[in-house]
Amino acid sequence: MSNPFDLTGQVAIVTGGNGGIGLGIAKGLAGAGASVAIAGRDAAKNASAVAGIEAAGGTAIPLEVDVVDEGSVAAMTAATLDRFGRIDILVANAGINNRKPPEDYTLAEWREIIDINLTGTFVCATAVHPAFREAGHGKIITIGSMLSLFGGAIAGPYSASKGGVVQLTKSLAVAWAPHGIQVNSILPGFIDTDLTRAGRIKTPEMFARIESDTPAGRWGIPDDLAGLAVFLASSASDFVTGTAIPVDGGYSAQM
Ligand code: NDP
Repeated sequence: MSNPFDLTGQVAIVTGGNGGIGLGIAKGLAGAGASVAIAGRDAAKNASAVAGIEAAGGTAIPLEVDVVDEGSVAAMTAATLDRFGRIDILVANAGINNRKPPEDYTLAEWREIIDINLTGTFVCATAVHPAFREAGHGKIITIGSMLSLFGGAIAGPYSASKGGVVQLTKSLAVAWAPHGIQVNSILPGFIDTDLTRAGRIKTPEMFARIESDTPAGRWGIPDDLAGLAVFLASSASDFVTGTAIPVDGGYSAQM
């Protein structure tokens, strides 16, 4: 009997796969049989993530990329095709935040968040599209947030970028569904990573409240995202496209 979640022989690119949620997802995809390109800016973090996946029996390569640089993203897809001969899955996960009241952002700070989180997702998705179109199949997983659904008093540009990621996801899904390409978004709840650790230090009271407001009663960990990512990367989700699915311990289900 075939296993619809099996990714053996498939190739995934995970942007920001060198740490946090991206690494949790990359490990999940590698565990399901995919070869994984770990694509981040920091070469040392890339190498360490690859070493961890290989030590666990997976196949991975490190790729230095800046998702806001079209040339760098083109080189990322070319290097993946050179090494593996195909690309089946893109996880557009790279993202940043910078928390402050809306009136305190400079235009440069606004642009940096929108560029990496939203424009970077667009640049990576359109970069893999030719390979997906030629193959007649492909899976794109974008990463939204609870702030794709809710507003955040100290997360204006981040919320705008993550709302935009979901709308972009739906638009790509509609455009590319006829060509066998599925595009879905994962909306992580509050996950313990470098990104949120900085925020915990800045606003400890808000971050303590998150635990009590999460029905599961805990912060998420990067490995919590792996199961849904494997599903959305696999043939098990071939009729699922344009969705935005929370992995949040029930946070967004509660009034
Ligand atoms: P981390 O800070 O741990 O990871 C962010 C990753 O993005 C790093 O691997 C970083 O790599 C990479 N990255 C950042 N900018 C670029 C760039 N310009 N080009 C390439 N890679 C880049 O954060 P998380 O794991 O928490 O975040 C991952 C994603 O999940 C983000 O999109 C974030 O918005 C989203 N998210 C996180 C939540 C959480 O609670 N943690 C909740 C909801 C969404 P490098 O250091 O090498 O540049």
